[in-house]
Amino acid sequence: MKVLVINSGSSSIKYKLFENETEIYQGIKEEVKSHHDALEELFEELNNIDQIDSLKDIDAIGHRVVHGGEKFDKPALIDDQVVNDIESLIPLAPLHNPANLEAIQIIRKKYPHVPQIAVFDTAFHQTIPPENYIYPITKSFYDKDHIRKYGFHGTSHYHVARKAARFLDKNLNECNFITFHLGNGSSVTAVKKGKSVDTSMGFTPLAGLMMGTRSGDIDPSIIFYLEKMLGYKIEDIDKLLNKESGLKGICGESDLRTVLEHMRKGDKTAKLAVDMFIKKIRDFVGSYIVELGTVDAMIFTGGIGENSSYIREKVCENLYDSIGLVVDTYRDEHLKKPIDDITGENSRVRVLVVQTNEEKSIALQTMELLKKQE
Ligand code: ADP
Repeated sequence: MKVLVINSGSSSIKYKLFENETEIYQGIKEEVKSHHDALEELFEELNNIDQIDSLKDIDAIGHRVVHGGEKFDKPALIDDQVVNDIESLIPLAPLHNPANLEAIQIIRKKYPHVPQIAVFDTAFHQTIPPENYIYPITKSFYDKDHIRKYGFHGTSHYHVARKAARFLDKNLNECNFITFHLGNGSSVTAVKKGKSVDTSMGFTPLAGLMMGTRSGDIDPSIIFYLEKMLGYKIEDIDKLLNKESGLKGICGESDLRTVLEHMRKGDKTAKLAVDMFIKKIRDFVGSYIVELGTVDAMIFTGGIGENSSYIREKVCENLYDSIGLVVDTYRDEHLKKPIDDITGENSRVRVLVVQTNEEKSIALQTMELLKKQE
């Protein structure tokens, strides 16, 4: 089975072609001005590669769609209704859903017989219970305006949880995990019996952990103070919290590798930024241990989670007395990819580093849905 995965953003289109579980081709169109022209180029490119004769040779196209709201708790075969539903969710993801939808519409018009499947970033978190997703503000904001925690990075949290369960030789629905997706954007998820029961991002991806340029959780009154006392406009505060905060706000650099280099050279604000980054992650470790009761494994993924032994070791530091967790630092510093077990001796909780691959996860979910349809 051949599946093309498309991640259509506002200014770029990333694509990967899979034959069953194997990636056979990939590319990216950058600085996209017209999605129509960029997709035409992509179709032309696919016509000329050896692995396939033409787009007709492809069994399905899987799309990453950022926001599925409360309508989608699993991948959906795209038809008129699904298109309308994704459209109706644009207010919740004004930057992302329109770009996702544009590619879907262009392909529907040109290749109406190729099945297209939408895989949503929010879907995995639809199992979160109401006490964890409703905000303690006037309830009609949830009932009427759909303001609630949705969570993001769902495809990645699901993918690494699934891979970890397979690695541990267990069914996913028997596993309790804390999954850390740490990259420029970061989130943590509590997975209970294979299902997401809480996650750190919220109504938007601004919530939760401190990130490269996003603040994560702060006292909301800071926003009123910035506006009333310091004269900031609401658009400027939006930009400040999304693009100029987090690691960048504290030490001027958003890329963790650079921040760590500065820290190692003795830069005190870089050290403060790293310490804060770790502290926020550990706050969620505590909260999610309580949420889950028992934890089978902590799973690290994303650019930082997969590559920084320092961050992994600091997140897991001094957890033996509370939850019996120890990391094997030698294994942590000598990883074997794409999945590695860095659990220390006598640890009651496993610690795994699992490479995420959102495109592969979208391809697998697309194939599973197609097989169900047959
Ligand atoms: P995105 O969220 O944009 O997909 P990634 O998952 O690629 O981002 O993660 C990017 C982050 O990973 C950057 O902060 C980068 O510095 C960090 N990173 C990558 N390699 C390392 C490393 N070896 N050590 C520390 N941080 C790293």
